[in-house]
Amino acid sequence: MREEDLEIAIKVVIVGNGAVGKSSMIQRYCKGTFTKDYKKTIGVDFLERQIECDGEEVRLMLWDTAGQEEFDAITKAYYRGAQACVLAFSTTDRDSFEAIQSWKKKVEDECGEIPTVLVQNKIDLLEQTVVDPEEVDLLARALGCRLMHTSVKEDVNVNAVFRFLTSRCLIEM
Ligand code: GDP
Repeated sequence: MREEDLEIAIKVVIVGNGAVGKSSMIQRYCKGTFTKDYKKTIGVDFLERQIECDGEEVRLMLWDTAGQEEFDAITKAYYRGAQACVLAFSTTDRDSFEAIQSWKKKVEDECGEIPTVLVQNKIDLLEQTVVDPEEVDLLARALGCRLMHTSVKEDVNVNAVFRFLTSRCLIEM
């Protein structure tokens, strides 16, 4: 049984191809800011945010790949102990959509089955979309993941992603 005063910390990994908005999402959620280019100034492994969810105080640690995804060199340390996952692709980047299955597999190989959300980011750019909503639905179903549409830029659904994951993690604890 869980101790009432024990703090719950949840490590969340955010994976996907470069430039889909992973760092922006972490920054938005933890700091409430959005900028076009800040990556080089982050220089940390993760940012965190404390939230209350289902009556529990939870500390979410959101891990950033810090650009390493470009070299396919994300280390085991990045995945180690992750309890939840965001699989992110961009509305305007076909390759990022097609890479989702392989990202899912990488996470699964390291972490097993953990609560996961498939996130289609940059929905503010829907007029430039290169993915068909039906194929996105199909992929989510095939992966057995909840699908969410976000705009980190316009702050749409970002909180919902992390609230959903937190809630799912708490159920499993
Ligand atoms: P990462 O490589 O996946 O971490 O991607 P970044 O967070 O560095 O974002 C890549 C670029 O996409 C940056 O210029 C961001 O400002 C931009 N970006 C991130 N999210 C959104 C979004 O929801 N809408 C739009 N239009 N641009 C975004």
